[in-house]
Amino acid sequence: MTHRNGAGATEHVDVLIVGAGLSGIGAAAHLQDRLPGKSFALLEAREASGGTWDLFRYPGIRSDSDMHTLGYRFRPWTAAKAIADGPSILDYIRDTARERGIDRHIRYQHKVERADWSSADARWTVHVRRLDTDETFELSCHFLFICGGYYDYDQPYLPDFLGIERFIGTFFHAQQWPEDLDYEGKRVVVIGSGATAMTIVPALADKAEHVTMLQRSPTYVISLPAEDPIANFLRRHLPERTAYAITRWKNVLLQALTYRLSRRRPEFVKRAIRKGIQRELPRDYDIDTHFKPRYNPWDQRLCLVPDADLFKALRRGNASIATDTLETFTEHGIKLSSGEELEADIVVAATGLNLLALGGVDLAVDGDEVEIPQKMAYKAIMLSGVPNMAFTVGYTNASWTLKADLTAEYVCRLLRHMDEHGYRQAVPELNDPNVHEGPFLDFSAGYVLRALDKFPKQGSKAPWRLRQNYARDIKTLRHEPIEDGTMVFSNPSPAAQTHDADAVSVPAA
Ligand SMILES: Cc1cc2nc3c(=O)[nH]c(=O)nc-3n(C[C@H](O)[C@H](O)[C@H](O)COP(=O)(O)OP(=O)(O)OC[C@H]3O[C@@H](n4cnc5c(N)ncnc54)[C@H](O)[C@@H]3O)c2cc1C
Repeated sequence: MTHRNGAGATEHVDVLIVGAGLSGIGAAAHLQDRLPGKSFALLEAREASGGTWDLFRYPGIRSDSDMHTLGYRFRPWTAAKAIADGPSILDYIRDTARERGIDRHIRYQHKVERADWSSADARWTVHVRRLDTDETFELSCHFLFICGGYYDYDQPYLPDFLGIERFIGTFFHAQQWPEDLDYEGKRVVVIGSGATAMTIVPALADKAEHVTMLQRSPTYVISLPAEDPIANFLRRHLPERTAYAITRWKNVLLQALTYRLSRRRPEFVKRAIRKGIQRELPRDYDIDTHFKPRYNPWDQRLCLVPDADLFKALRRGNASIATDTLETFTEHGIKLSSGEELEADIVVAATGLNLLALGGVDLAVDGDEVEIPQKMAYKAIMLSGVPNMAFTVGYTNASWTLKADLTAEYVCRLLRHMDEHGYRQAVPELNDPNVHEGPFLDFSAGYVLRALDKFPKQGSKAPWRLRQNYARDIKTLRHEPIEDGTMVFSNPSPAAQTHDADAVSVPAA
């Protein structure tokens, strides 16, 4: 059933935020701070806020970035551990929402399915399904801000495993961890070599009989202390906000330097990573087989392990790595291409995510369906030809929140600019014939390559180029003029209709 509000009127908000995860709650906080007069609502498909940090429940769930950059710019992370566990991150996100009253604006079990832009009305009509009642309804907004994350919540990535139906043990995906799983004294195999597998293996190793990480190919792994002594020292001696800002910048610069060094001097970085691993493992450990990837550092995300927990489990012998290909499941485990068999009571697929663009929301502009892969991303936050809509996608080479904060700041600047000039519509238009298109993400991880055809393109130059560079984005998103000749403003509101033209595009100053 589709119902409108009350006596037939559709409810309207200035800004509709899709998703109440880290980004959506951060977006609402920026909006409150910068544009307190704007009405807003957050529609959240799940029964709870927190997104990723509520969905993933596997033992040991933690960040693999430091919380001084994964935390919001506006709210210091004050716990001693810089690499934090999932429940602490969830508390941090929810406390932010509670302290600012954002939680009162969240409507749970409201899934946004579709949004239609009307230039005549300068508003989106948003089609929502209530997942508790299966009722559908519409509301409208002036600006649509999609903070729906980057992956499919319902369908994790699960390859077709040969013989899986024969396996009599317990099998599931890490994204769907069974609440009551008892792994004490059990033989566990974790399939995967990403951050999730690296987290689960040491977390299970103490209680399980043995945990084997089965990987097709190795990943770069770096151990860092879970507590950052500099951050903790600064916090003891400086005001909270000052200490946080300094640590945040220290970490931003360190991340940027490591990334740049990896791109320019990959052999040097490879040697340094290897030395770090050699220090943690017995002399005769086969590092070449298990920890020497075929690609260069930062072609894919580096894996960070806090306090060498993975290496400690390997050293103690309660965990091991098998670098091999899964040939088939058997009744009691997994047969590998080498002929070896891994016996298992439990097999966990830590095989990754299925990426999903824009929270799966279908968009149309003045009746024309928006084909996302045919669009180009403007500053990596809006789409060519799509008015009054922004989305948040974080960095692949640094903490997500660095970009999420900047995205929200930019949206607030854009909205303020529109208010000041009486514009009701802002749309990035691809008007430069010298811009060539390329894939949205320049990252060779399997989960990215599998999904590139669902994402918009990026362009060969600004403002269409996605640089994955926080310092550069500060300049572009926080400081550069909003009117840049690409963003086309139009549809002045009745109060501002002193202009002759209906569309105004002002070249950058
Ligand atoms: C296991 C794991 C560990 C990670 N660790 C790190 C890390 O250490 N550092 C880092 O930088 N990044 C990490 N990431 C990336 C992580 O997802 C981001 O850091 C961040 O949590 C993303 O926040 P978000 O709010 O943008 O998206 P999400 O956390 O995915 O939240 C999106 C929310 O939007 C809702 N939603 C989606 N579509 C709709 C719709 N159509 N209608 C209504 N609601 C919708 C979802 O239900 C969800 O609640 C990790 C990701 C995973 C999966």
